[in-house]
Amino acid sequence: MIHGIKGVKDILPAEIARWQAIEGTARRLAMLYGYQEIRVPVFEVTELFARSIGATTDIVEKEMYTFHDRDGTSLTLRPEATAGAVRAYIEHNLAASPTAQKLYYLGPMFRHERPQAGRLRQFHQFGVESFGSADPRADIEVISLLWRFLSDLGLPDLTLEINSLGEASDRSAYKAILLDFLKKREDRLCQNCRRRMDTNPLRVLDCKVPECKAATEDAPKLTDHLSSSARRHFDDVLAGLSTLEIPYVLNPRLVRGLDYYTLTTFEVTSRRLGAQNAVGAGGRYDGLVEVLGGPKTPAVGFAVGLERVSLMLPDAAVPAPPMMVFVATFGEQGAAAGLRLLHELRALGVRADTDYRASTLKAHLRQADRLGAAFTLIVGDDEVAKGRLLLRNMRTKEQEELPLSTAVKALVARLGQG
Ligand code: ATP
Ligand code: MG
Repeated sequence: MIHGIKGVKDILPAEIARWQAIEGTARRLAMLYGYQEIRVPVFEVTELFARSIGATTDIVEKEMYTFHDRDGTSLTLRPEATAGAVRAYIEHNLAASPTAQKLYYLGPMFRHERPQAGRLRQFHQFGVESFGSADPRADIEVISLLWRFLSDLGLPDLTLEINSLGEASDRSAYKAILLDFLKKREDRLCQNCRRRMDTNPLRVLDCKVPECKAATEDAPKLTDHLSSSARRHFDDVLAGLSTLEIPYVLNPRLVRGLDYYTLTTFEVTSRRLGAQNAVGAGGRYDGLVEVLGGPKTPAVGFAVGLERVSLMLPDAAVPAPPMMVFVATFGEQGAAAGLRLLHELRALGVRADTDYRASTLKAHLRQADRLGAAFTLIVGDDEVAKGRLLLRNMRTKEQEELPLSTAVKALVARLGQG
């Protein structure tokens, strides 16, 4: 037999209620906060990702699924959706809209990584992008939407970490100071960090290797080198979070190595997740629209990994399915009556089902129980002849006879009361 690909999972019916709860919460909150859905393609020209994510990132260096189209064009399965959203924003001139463009997306992303719990090669993200406003309140809105999403789902042990990357000029001044510091401890850094120190010293702060972490523990902080406007922006964001009672922890090591990331950057983690503890991350990327050929446009967004959300989702966050009525029929007349009953129930919005393979009452009732039916309507040729049917309460096992023609209405009325 042919197997699925390593790190690429099926989501089976037994798990689907969790996913629908997560996606439903995402859509509901996005709507409440004024974000509209955008659906961008799952593949794009490679250059889009190389330019927007940055050539020296893990994603572009080693994680992309890239292939050649028949005409030789290099294409890539999207490793994230910000690049596609920005491309669409520019290509369809959404900047010209008189209303702010606040977009959200839900869907699969693809990265060639070593699969493990919470790390897959096809995974799913919910993300938002707020285009057009440089106001710190836009940052606060995006963070509060992420926080609300995770807390409405009841996820445990969440920590919001936040930092400011300053303006581009703050960063280039800081890079020189940081490089100076790193040069003095070069011998304590990993190979990877020594290599990238000169091209992208900020990424050394992000290194997960314990020795590198220790060596850079007392590194100078970017937040001590912010311009007054960057400082004010950061203070406003922090004050807004306090107003909304969203707890945060300052993390001066939280960096992104690319120049179009500016000012606010944040990440939400959970201790419950173990090694892959990041649930979602985001920040301001005021330079990106311009880098991709659009008008100068401030923007801020986040992306949250839904597999990791699902791993932590408490059962209580998954709503029980609506009550179901099962229809058990016998004989030709019974089957015909059953067809109408199912149709009527479903037309009235009642979840209703049967089993076309069952022929005995025992078999029908067993299926009704397996499906979790609250009631079963039992109708055979004899009942049809009498114009009656039996209504069985699956919990109490009580049965009563009802007129065939009005049974559905009577049952629905009773369900409405219950
Ligand atoms: P990590 O540090 O875990 O590699 P990242 O910085 O690569 O994360 P982002 O690109 O910021 O992650 O994506 C946002 C979120 O998407 C992450 O916080 C995580 O929840 C999720 N995510 C990223 N990569 C994967 C993956 N391979 N499998 C499952 N979820 C992922
Ligand atoms: Mg990663």
